[in-house]
Amino acid sequence: MEILAVDHPLVAHKLTTLRDVSTDSPTFRRLADELVTLLAYEATRDVRVTSVTVETPLQPASGVRLARPVPLVVPILRAGLGMLDGMTRLLPTAEVGFLGMIRDEGTLQAQTYATRLPDDLSGRQCYVLDPMLATGGTLAAAISLLFDRGARDVTAITLLAAPEGLAVLEDSFPESTPIKVVTAAIDERLNENGYIIPGLGDAGDRLYGTA
Ligand code: URA
Repeated sequence: MEILAVDHPLVAHKLTTLRDVSTDSPTFRRLADELVTLLAYEATRDVRVTSVTVETPLQPASGVRLARPVPLVVPILRAGLGMLDGMTRLLPTAEVGFLGMIRDEGTLQAQTYATRLPDDLSGRQCYVLDPMLATGGTLAAAISLLFDRGARDVTAITLLAAPEGLAVLEDSFPESTPIKVVTAAIDERLNENGYIIPGLGDAGDRLYGTA
């Protein structure tokens, strides 16, 4: 598994404001969106392309286009939705699937309550969006579901990751499994309730309130 904590002053700047408890939901949503676009730039470094030739007004020029099948972006509901626009801004031709997963706050185990994904993901590069890689249970379940359907490789994009969650992901798959985690920062640890410390609180609540 490859782990990339993006080291860039704009990423750090936006993340700091996201962490700040005084940042309101509209600002949080806007910054999360901007931050995802920056992370997506790094996360798509290995996106598959095919060579093409186009006609400029002057002469033919060689270039590339996204290969087929196009990538699949999979936000994990609910908080992953806050990352979707930032991702599709960079990959507008990607398809979007949805996974509804919730963490049982007692056992901290992930439960799937909704799935809207193609049955056959053969050859697909998948980008899973989940702001908080905490215990790792939700992402491990999501990634394994995508590989079960034939995904070629899976990149998880998160705003924050805990060392414990990264270790769970590493232990859940053979070393050679093509998984990449791209995050704005790796924080210190999880607390006894499975929250990332120092973190930014409950990402879903901060994006959308407590409804
Ligand atoms: N989910 C969140 O929203 N925040 C955390 O810190 C951990 C899991």
